[in-house]
Amino acid sequence: MTAPAGREGPVVVQKYGGTSVATAERILAIADRIERNLDRTPRLVVVLSAMGSTTDELVGLAHQVSDRPAGREMDLLLSTGEQVTVSLLGLALQSRGIPAISLTALQCGIRTDGVFNVARIRSIDTARIRAELDAGRVVIVTGFQGINDADDVTTLGRGGSDITGAALAAALGAGACEICTDVDGVFSADPSRVPGARLWAEISYEEAIEMASSGAKVLHPRAAEVCMEYDVPIHVRSSFHLRVGTWIRGAASIMERAEVVAVTGDAKIAKFTLLDVPDEPGMAARVFQDLAAGGINVRLIIQSASSAHQGRITFILDKEFVAGARELARSWEAGGVTSGCVVEDDVAKISIVGSRLAATPGLAARMFAVLARRGINIDCISSSEMKVACVISAERLDEATAAVHEEFFPAKETAAATA
Ligand code: ASP
Ligand code: MG
Repeated sequence: MTAPAGREGPVVVQKYGGTSVATAERILAIADRIERNLDRTPRLVVVLSAMGSTTDELVGLAHQVSDRPAGREMDLLLSTGEQVTVSLLGLALQSRGIPAISLTALQCGIRTDGVFNVARIRSIDTARIRAELDAGRVVIVTGFQGINDADDVTTLGRGGSDITGAALAAALGAGACEICTDVDGVFSADPSRVPGARLWAEISYEEAIEMASSGAKVLHPRAAEVCMEYDVPIHVRSSFHLRVGTWIRGAASIMERAEVVAVTGDAKIAKFTLLDVPDEPGMAARVFQDLAAGGINVRLIIQSASSAHQGRITFILDKEFVAGARELARSWEAGGVTSGCVVEDDVAKISIVGSRLAATPGLAARMFAVLARRGINIDCISSSEMKVACVISAERLDEATAAVHEEFFPAKETAAATA
């Protein structure tokens, strides 16, 4: 089938986050933005999040009627937020005379596995979307949701609209996946907390994945993983203007490589310590298999010996998983894996991220020295090729982030670099 005149060219996928569609006025502003750029993006797929804090409110409602809401009903409930925004944008575009159609995951064939709340996309049948694009319509798709084999609605985990955008961009062979958000791009620290944060013109997929998984709110790490796998460049940019933001692409095509690309903070974590774990094979396997089976992601693991025959297993996870992990801990106690578990939720994680971290001696030491000078105690440390992370007291996080950022991005130099 040939595309109608003016509707040729690569597909562009644009994802707008919750802040960008928080009110009717903002949805109208997105419609304006799309209208003004229609010449440049003739084959456009738009993926939307729910309005503002809608998803949080829906979670709150569920907990008002149930102590332990079931995954299936929860996902059906949470998926409604995105249905509101896509249909509103569809109406707004149509009322300007722009052909547009809004589609749910069922209508555009986004298939996932059966794990409610944190489902993974398995396949996308793009026939419907392609047909709508060929017919000259802007296609607007609900982010964050999918359909399992039984046609039940699933959701992809909080912030999952980015994953929808990336997966659609990959499946459609899009020229780019644009992540349109409330900041201008990817910064060396959260610009709302660290005023001197530097905006990057480009970073690698690997750097983006590490940043996102260490707490930066730029995009969902799995979105960057999907785009890396399918070699789709990501453009993180503002929804409020048209200036270029940050390109995320393969490391080989990036000109400027920094040792440290970001200082990130994450206060949404909790620390679990399992006491008196017998020093014998199979203990860690049992704990982490159970966590994985419960869809609980663990961010950092430390095992240490406390005596000749017993040890401790400490792990860090997102606060939203604490209740589920506590429940598992009861079964570990009953099963002789641990004598008891200690949960601390007044902790936070600060990380430095960069693809040349491992190759550059002394960077971790500089980070530790900054924390030491401020009298900030380091509770646990973990490091990998591209990241050094320290668990510290949550109340010192902002101060620590600003100080570590100043060490690697001194205000004077940053001002000169951007002048
Ligand atoms: N609305 C969902 C959430 O708040 C998905 C998203 O925003 O990407 O988590
Ligand atoms: Mg969101």
